[in-house]
Amino acid sequence: MAETVRVRIAPSPTGDPHVGTAYVGLINYAYARQNKGQFLLRIEDTDRERSTRESELAIYDALNWVGLEWDEGPDRGGPFGPYRQSERADIYREHSALLVRSGAAYPCFCPTDELDKIRLRQRALKRQTGYDGTCRAIPKDEAMARMAAGEPHVIRLRVPEGRTTVIDRLRGDVEIENEQIDDQVLLKTDGFPTYHLANVVDDHLMGITDVIRAEEWISSTPKHLMLYKAFGWQPPRFAHLPLLRNKDKSKISKRKNPVSLLYYRQIGVMPETMRNFLALLGHSMSDEREIFELDEFVNEFDFRRVSLGGPVFDIEKLLWLNGMRIRAMAPEVLAERVRDHLYSLDRLTELVPMAQERMRTLGDFADVTSFYMVPMLKLPIDELVAAGKGRAPKDSSALLLAAIEALDGIKTFDKESLEAALRDHCEQAGIPVGDLFMLFRIALTGRKATPPLIESMVILGRAQTTQRLRAASEALKAAPVPPVVK
Ligand code: GLU
Repeated sequence: MAETVRVRIAPSPTGDPHVGTAYVGLINYAYARQNKGQFLLRIEDTDRERSTRESELAIYDALNWVGLEWDEGPDRGGPFGPYRQSERADIYREHSALLVRSGAAYPCFCPTDELDKIRLRQRALKRQTGYDGTCRAIPKDEAMARMAAGEPHVIRLRVPEGRTTVIDRLRGDVEIENEQIDDQVLLKTDGFPTYHLANVVDDHLMGITDVIRAEEWISSTPKHLMLYKAFGWQPPRFAHLPLLRNKDKSKISKRKNPVSLLYYRQIGVMPETMRNFLALLGHSMSDEREIFELDEFVNEFDFRRVSLGGPVFDIEKLLWLNGMRIRAMAPEVLAERVRDHLYSLDRLTELVPMAQERMRTLGDFADVTSFYMVPMLKLPIDELVAAGKGRAPKDSSALLLAAIEALDGIKTFDKESLEAALRDHCEQAGIPVGDLFMLFRIALTGRKATPPLIESMVILGRAQTTQRLRAASEALKAAPVPPVVK
């Protein structure tokens, strides 16, 4: 019987759902559907510090919006669950114990500060940094006894001698000397697995036949192959997709472009455009056509037509494509789409409490909430400069950037967290809260008098808030210094 293709995406629920997740998801989806296989969603939430439930739910929401339906996942179950790594801790511990028993892994008792010292020394001697292998040599009986006595330890992979060949279906064979690879930590002191262990164990147990993921993971693949070998398992096939890039060819990042799928949904990019646009990144259709539907992509997707040249996530192109699609719609269909986007009951219910106090006619609603309804705010640059209260525009710009960083550190983008984070930030930076809020107000709404600021931020959401603050910071950086009025 022919093997059934099983692929997955394995996002980590930290922050907003990323366009890269949808991009990798789309390719996995197309490959699975073309081969009548299965497409899985696994949530890799072993980073307990940074993972949030809010972010996990946003991943489901965003992928549903893009229209990539998965067959198995934490929210819909399946025969190989649980599909959330935090619920699989015992499985990883058992598997790590198997490797310790076979000698393919060993406990390392080196305290962290000792490891730090080693690293500093290596750096001073301009040597490759990495674990020096102290605990490799501890006899197994002694190591077992120390573990049993409860001595804190991590579990490390004993990287064997020799070389490892990564076969990548997009890049051919890449060979590396094993000695270039450090004895990787597989299980941390708290008994939680690292990415490498959890990822390999799950891909195997979930029957994944093809790992199709972003290029940034390619350096992990030799480590993963060593793990497959240590377990005596057949590894999957690998394909590492090219990284998405900003226009200046740097790796796509929220510092330069919005990367949250929620942002694009919010400004009214249509899901079929997003799919179409992502499908054009690094892949071309046989006749080079640019506008097509998901089923056409599923039929035509071919690894041989993936180019590795660093596809550019060009927002202008995305908006162009959206416009093309809008113009091709029947007006009555477009009317419905506009209504659903701007005036869905969900959206109105969210906005009404904020607007109610400020309305005398129903029509006032449009005015009070216009800051939210427009996808891209036209910034009143003079007011923005004036909101700096005598600060040079470049200083206001820097102030906004620092505040964005403070907002980045917030796990849940709600009223309480925002209030606390912004007040803390102002206190530490020695800026009056009122000053920052005035800049925020203009940057986020284009006006001085607005609905309550923090509530407005919550409604705009993290991605849109950050994007607007960044745009304001850019505009201020470029603004001329106002003449001093005597
Ligand atoms: N958790 C990784 C991520 O966030 C998974 C990488 C992989 O697909 O192996 O993308």
